[in-house]
Amino acid sequence: MIQVQTATLGYPRIGKNRELKKALESFWNGTVSAASLVQTAQAIATQNWQTQLAAGIDRIGVGDFSLYDPVLDWSLRLGIIPARFQHLTGLERTFAMARGREGIPALEMTKWFDTNYHYLVPEIGEVWQEPDFSDFWATVERAKGILGERTTPIVLGPLTLVRLSRLELDLETTLTRLSERYTLLLAGLKNLGVLEVQIHEPALVLGDAGHFQKFYQSAYATFQAVGLPIHLVTYFDDLGEAFPWVIQLPVAGISLDFTRGQNLHLLRRYGFPGDLCLGVGIVDARNVWQIQPDTVMATLQAIQTFSSHLRIQPSASLQFVPYDSRRETELPLPLRQVLSFAEQKLAEVKLLAQMLQGDVQAESELTTRRSYWEAFSAFRPSHPAVQTRLDHLQPRDFERSLPYAQRLTQQPVLPLFPTTTIGSFPQTPEIRQLRAQWKRGEMTQQEYEAAIDREIAKCIRYQEEIGLDVLVHGEFERTDMVEFFAQQLSGFAFTQHGWVQSYGSRCVRPPIIYGDIARPHPMTVREFRVAQSLTPKIVKGMLTGPVTMLNWSFPRIDLPRATQALQIALALRDEVADLEAAGARIIQIDEPALREGLPLKPERWDEYLTWAVDAFRLAAGIAQPATQIHTHMCYSEFGDIIRHIERLDADVLSIENSRSNNETLLEIADAGYHHQVGNGVYDVHSPAIPTTEQMVTQLQMGVAHLPKEQIWVNPDCGLKTRRWEEVLPALKNMVAAAKILREEVYVSGE
Ligand code: GLN
Ligand code: ZN
Repeated sequence: MIQVQTATLGYPRIGKNRELKKALESFWNGTVSAASLVQTAQAIATQNWQTQLAAGIDRIGVGDFSLYDPVLDWSLRLGIIPARFQHLTGLERTFAMARGREGIPALEMTKWFDTNYHYLVPEIGEVWQEPDFSDFWATVERAKGILGERTTPIVLGPLTLVRLSRLELDLETTLTRLSERYTLLLAGLKNLGVLEVQIHEPALVLGDAGHFQKFYQSAYATFQAVGLPIHLVTYFDDLGEAFPWVIQLPVAGISLDFTRGQNLHLLRRYGFPGDLCLGVGIVDARNVWQIQPDTVMATLQAIQTFSSHLRIQPSASLQFVPYDSRRETELPLPLRQVLSFAEQKLAEVKLLAQMLQGDVQAESELTTRRSYWEAFSAFRPSHPAVQTRLDHLQPRDFERSLPYAQRLTQQPVLPLFPTTTIGSFPQTPEIRQLRAQWKRGEMTQQEYEAAIDREIAKCIRYQEEIGLDVLVHGEFERTDMVEFFAQQLSGFAFTQHGWVQSYGSRCVRPPIIYGDIARPHPMTVREFRVAQSLTPKIVKGMLTGPVTMLNWSFPRIDLPRATQALQIALALRDEVADLEAAGARIIQIDEPALREGLPLKPERWDEYLTWAVDAFRLAAGIAQPATQIHTHMCYSEFGDIIRHIERLDADVLSIENSRSNNETLLEIADAGYHHQVGNGVYDVHSPAIPTTEQMVTQLQMGVAHLPKEQIWVNPDCGLKTRRWEEVLPALKNMVAAAKILREEVYVSGE
């Protein structure tokens, strides 16, 4: 007889009504006390536990809650605190590490694996402080009071911590120190009387896990000696080549993600030690959809032959989905019935466990779910015309009609080092208020548009005064670069409460793709026309690219992501044609999220980049040779994917460069990139106003590495989070820097 239990690996932390966000922001601006912040946080954690308890979960993950970021919490507990923060204590230190403070830069922030959550990168140096696990132990004790034996502490594994750190100490010393500290931690947990601990080691799914094999083996042998059963948790992909040795590690159980990668295949190939508990991550923690009963049951039947002790669970922490889909009462019922957020996923976990135990009632529950899916497929907007168009695409649809060198001669003639911006200008409180009024129906469409047009006019006037060469309309009508387009396309749905944490107090509410995507009407042409009518200078049309639209939404699960990207690309292709017809001579298609969609395993990069770049090419391919296509990406590191960047075939690529110290530019230059490059000359994330001299230096660096005709001058990203008082002088200095460069070139007689 097999034993079937249920477990969770973490829960959303922001609170059902974003209580944590509100409490944090109030604490930071001094309107609530530290005690009240902590009280709010504990109330959220308690409610999370109670929800999981009510759902009947057997092993409830606890201790993943954090005021800002769990990786930061582990750095603090382990005593990994960079020297610049060591004089601080308590919350002051926590938030200084998270957000920086006068003269002390924060820890770097970066994406957590391939998710849209961002963690704070630990800096492991020579000098550590004493470890202090007291807050963690206190949480576990508090949880035990509510959950009893179900309490299962979640610990971030030492090798994942190291793998994600900036390591300035040698690996051996680091791991020796960590082993001692983790041993202390585990002994403390054992004393608290918990039945088992989850140690999360998602780094095991990365391609380089093999390099660390002997460290995993020795660390886990040490931990085993403590005598507290360890459940080793992995997610986000399969174990790949590491599979055979990982399943031999001295632990009591191992969790695998069966929603991504090839773990079932690996299980079949290598088997699984029969006495080990197998954590079956089968309910997808990263999408918003209900399980599809037949597929999931078939997978479970196959898995259950490999261990007599199964844990049915979400594939990862549920932090990647919102709390409760039942609250989305404005969504049509057939759609709402197939959505599944955290609470619904708990019920699914329970249901699947009951199914495996032969529970008859569970069977009828599954039948209900099948009927939801049937109702949904009847309801789902389908656009046969879009599908037909995709089926009939020809290779030439993905290509500009002339190669770059020939297009170049037809494109707008601009001064050397042309100056421009990335698109958005300050989104002031007044603009946000305007939009809120319009949404509440307190303002007519005409009044709203007239107000937007006044902003556009002001923005054009400023840009002319500053002397920029290529202007933009300013994106005042856009809340968000994805949402704005999604709202005008069919096939996207929007939630009221579907917030997920991006980092710290920042939350996003991604649109949900639930049907075929089509463009019922032009999306940006009106504002473009208004802007272009006000100036003889060229105004750039501004679009968000297909891959970014996809990566910042919850995709549907019945169609490959590639197909969804192509559907969006077709809509954008029509928009490009309409902008051109309206007189646009330059069109920018932003793809800031292209790189972040890269799969975790490098061997899958090519496959992803092939369709991602194809989608961009499909959107841009319609443009006449004389139309200049720009794209923008705001992160560094292109070296490894430069061939794909070239294949975008954009005429101008603008990049973030000022924060990465020109590294990106150098990579691009080294690779022999021969299209034009907008070299981000100042950091828009800093309130500091860059001086002309700084930007001249930045540009000279560009000139030293790239032919001068290839270089554009722009900030490194959009300006929407800045204030006009910052933007105007910064851009004036930028234009002055471009002029100085032009004169230098003229004087040197080149
Ligand atoms: N055009 C967008 C803007 O200027 C680009 C934003 C981005 O790269 N994230 O805001
Ligand atoms: Zn950007």
